[in-house]
Amino acid sequence: MKTRICLIFFLFISLFYFSFNMHIFPITLYIEDIRLERFSNDFGINLAEPIIVLEAISLEEFTELTQLPYSYYSGALIVKRNNYYVVTLPFKILHKNNIFYDTLIHEFMHYHLEKYFHFSEEEQERIISKFVKGEFS
Ligand SMILES: [Zn+2]
Repeated sequence: MKTRICLIFFLFISLFYFSFNMHIFPITLYIEDIRLERFSNDFGINLAEPIIVLEAISLEEFTELTQLPYSYYSGALIVKRNNYYVVTLPFKILHKNNIFYDTLIHEFMHYHLEKYFHFSEEEQERIISKFVKGEFS
């Protein structure tokens, strides 16, 4: 039910203001990555839980959606009134820079750590970078 309200909310915004592409991991955007699997095993995370991914259609739109500079960030987890969603640069740019998988799994890990655990921002980055680099414990 919550997901449905969330979807309607984003559809509404997208129709009137933004033109991002909306994906839902793992339903319309399926990613299989050993690093994400390792993370899910270690933290007891359900990878089937849907995560909304808004792919900005331009660098400028990314900054509008996240209030973050696109020169420094390739993705971000946004939490608004208990709605969690990931915003990324256009996939074309992520692919071109060879950071498509790194960016998505990075933000998916933030999603779970933010929603179900109590780590600080710094601790989250440390945990995530360990998994993204493949440095498993
Ligand atoms: Zn991060």
